[in-house]
Amino acid sequence: MQRIVVLAGGVGGARFLRGLRVAAPDADVTVIGNTGDDIHLFGLKVCPDLDTVMYTLGGGIDEAKGWGREDESFRVKEELAAYGVGPGWFGLGDRDFATHIVRTQMLGAGYPLSEVTAALCARWEPGVRLLPMTDDRVETHVAVDLDGERRAVHFQEYWVRLRASVEAHAVVPVGADQAKPAPGVLDAIAEADVVLFPPSNPVVSVGTILAVPGIREGIADAGVPVVGLSPLVGDAPVHGMADKVLAAIGVEATAAAVARHYGSGLLDGWLVDTVDAGSVPAVEEAGIRCRAVPLMMDGPEATAQMARDALALAEEVRA
Ligand code: GDP
Ligand code: CA
Repeated sequence: MQRIVVLAGGVGGARFLRGLRVAAPDADVTVIGNTGDDIHLFGLKVCPDLDTVMYTLGGGIDEAKGWGREDESFRVKEELAAYGVGPGWFGLGDRDFATHIVRTQMLGAGYPLSEVTAALCARWEPGVRLLPMTDDRVETHVAVDLDGERRAVHFQEYWVRLRASVEAHAVVPVGADQAKPAPGVLDAIAEADVVLFPPSNPVVSVGTILAVPGIREGIADAGVPVVGLSPLVGDAPVHGMADKVLAAIGVEATAAAVARHYGSGLLDGWLVDTVDAGSVPAVEEAGIRCRAVPLMMDGPEATAQMARDALALAEEVRA
């Protein structure tokens, strides 16, 4: 059986994984999820990216938004607001609250996040093994200028409250350097036949996972094809504001620049969209095999084909 490891953020990672399951129904897929977006709200531990993967693959996602539960209501949030208790800018729905209550209760009882995630997945049966990148606390902070002062804000405050409308001067995965990969992460990488980077945010999703000591090294040393798909199409993020956080780390917002940022020491193959076919030579000059294929996840078949193309490129670089 083919063993595939995927480093995933939220919406981009989850949608790709759905296609991968169609493309490789018999594969054994381990997802290493980003936890740098995690935040404590109302006394509850919220893990947006893990939940997006879990809900998307488990059939509970709000398809239109790409995150949160389908058929959601926001009455708890209204009641909290009536008490003057915020933040109001983070959309936690009533059904979603249950997930965070269960998680927080289990963490309080002493279970590590990896075991909590497995327990939540027992309900959702995502069809992949979903592991948090670490059981330790990592929080991505963004340095911004607010009211004439340089401040570090939580990634969610930057992304959701400020809508990435101000310049990001730095992006720091606080705690990552002290974090240990969660149980199973390094073993899954060492035993993988292929490692895939879905079209997730290269800075605050894949970049954060790679910042946990041991993960980048494990992937580079595994000696198996590592193939990524560009989250930038036509030199712009398909959704979201990846260009803002790329600028903060000094990387141009182009498919080729993101490939060079990962580098040939990590990446063996890279897929760009057909509209970016002109950047294929530049990526190959950097020592990374590159192909231009459609990369818009606008339907199950298109997304499955992206996964097939990624696996085909992996076989090409293996040969
Ligand atoms: P987040 O944690 O919810 O922000 O999700 P991810 O980090 O997993 O993915 C976000 C990235 O997905 C963004 O940079 C988008 O540009 C990218 N993305 C979203 N939809 C598509 C798509 O259809 N095609 C490609 N190539 N990238 C996409
Ligand atoms: Ca995220």
